[in-house]
Amino acid sequence: MSLTEIQRLQTLLPTWVETNRLLCANGKVASYIPELAKSPIDALGIHLINAQGNSVSAGNSELTFTMQSISKVFTLILALMDNGESGVFDKVGMEPTGDNFNSMLKLELVQPGIPFNPLINAGAIAISSLIAGESPTEKSRRVLEFFRLLSNNRSLDYDLDVYRSESDTANLNRSMAYFLKDNGVLEGAVEDVLDVYFRHCSICVTCTDLAQMALVLAHNGTNPITGEELIPRRYVQIAKTFMTTCGMYNASGEFAIQVGLPAKSGVSGGILTLVPGRYGIGLVGPSLNRKGNSIAGVALLEQMSQTFDWSLF
Ligand code: GLN
Repeated sequence: MSLTEIQRLQTLLPTWVETNRLLCANGKVASYIPELAKSPIDALGIHLINAQGNSVSAGNSELTFTMQSISKVFTLILALMDNGESGVFDKVGMEPTGDNFNSMLKLELVQPGIPFNPLINAGAIAISSLIAGESPTEKSRRVLEFFRLLSNNRSLDYDLDVYRSESDTANLNRSMAYFLKDNGVLEGAVEDVLDVYFRHCSICVTCTDLAQMALVLAHNGTNPITGEELIPRRYVQIAKTFMTTCGMYNASGEFAIQVGLPAKSGVSGGILTLVPGRYGIGLVGPSLNRKGNSIAGVALLEQMSQTFDWSLF
């Protein structure tokens, strides 16, 4: 009897994690958020889950880390659920930038001065201001509740050390947010909007949490294990499209060629990706390449996608 793909992954992943782990030595952990500099540079872990709830874990899959930019996918979805498409796309565009995630260059160069897309920092800060709620506390509470629902983990919470570390040092994001306010992109007080943004970036997860959230996207908004419909299909389609075109910063084109799956990475070294209709995948490897993506994580995903022919293209 031939082995199922998941059985082959169970055999192969532990070895693949160990060989790709060697690449961690060629990257660096993020340090512009001082607390992230403490991340273990040699760590690499992965968790993959399918619609039947069968899963595979390998390496440091129990490591906890903050979502950082991965959270932007799900605040975008919540903002779409709160405001509809026109409410969101009045404030952010649909195009990749080719610039760094924290660049504000095009905000001045290209009219009407709205962020190019919701996955760069400027766009995600604009999205934070669109989350429904009477106060920043209420908005943050709704974001956390939504993430708990999607990850099927009631105990998901903030890493307050990382939150404070980012908030205390965020000169660039702060200047960007004031610029956006002046361009009429942000609703409400700038510091309130930033607080919602810093909080969702600091939500602490494991690879399993990311894999569960990705599984919902892989099944067009329904948790296939519980059968619960959590996100309208159209908003999942929008999120997956942004993940494909902008999810891996300005290495998204290369990732589309080498891996060919919708994905989102964060500066803590996390990557959330999915095989549509099949798997949710969460990965962490804090050592980053020059484009800001997990150096060993990207290599591991290339190996997996190419071996099992997962590319969508
Ligand atoms: N919180 C981080 C920041 O704003 C998120 C960036 C990232 O993960 N690329 O800089």
